[in-house]
Amino acid sequence: MFVASAPTRARTYAQRRARPATNSARAPQRWRCAATSGDVPPTDDDAGDTAVRRGAFFGRFLRGRPGQTRRRMDRVPEPETACACGSGRAYSRCCMPVHTGARPAADAEGLLRARYAAYVYRLPGYLMRTTSKNNPDYTDDWGLWEAEILEFCDSYKFLGLELIDVSYASPDVCFIQFLVRLARNSAPGFFIERSRLTVERGKWLYASGKLISYDMSFA
Ligand SMILES: [Zn+2]
Repeated sequence: MFVASAPTRARTYAQRRARPATNSARAPQRWRCAATSGDVPPTDDDAGDTAVRRGAFFGRFLRGRPGQTRRRMDRVPEPETACACGSGRAYSRCCMPVHTGARPAADAEGLLRARYAAYVYRLPGYLMRTTSKNNPDYTDDWGLWEAEILEFCDSYKFLGLELIDVSYASPDVCFIQFLVRLARNSAPGFFIERSRLTVERGKWLYASGKLISYDMSFA
């Protein structure tokens, strides 16, 4: 759906998971968290090089060329830069310690903000680690998942996150409706998702997401 104009590899994957394009459609599959085989998803500072594949990443947001190798973390800003999550705080005092694993997200809102910033900063390891295994989109094929996340990160420019509603169903379950503005080839788009976030083993994780509305035509 909203990835209809994404590069070939992504489009194929989206079609496999496609749902009718209604307001109750599934959450953007790229918004989920993803990674290489093994028992633990990779961190964002190990095995940090990814090859830019031919046929993908042809958007204007691509700084590399097919076949070139890029660092996963090449979008991570200086620590004193304002955090992309929109909190108004410096990255070092906002999502940076959450991304590095120095501390977990303090609450559901913190997780959602950190996940948004991880897309902006191209941190697939964090996104995969913070996806619940109960999430329908969870997969053990971390290599594929990571490639999809990076492709998504490279296909769009992220313009901002706005939280619309935060409601706790219990201390361990929270629903957050949020708006993400983004652009492709300078054309703006947006989507609104309602995410369910849950506490598992003491940490907030992304359990599921429902796409509420979107315009990803980039016309
Ligand atoms: Zn932040």
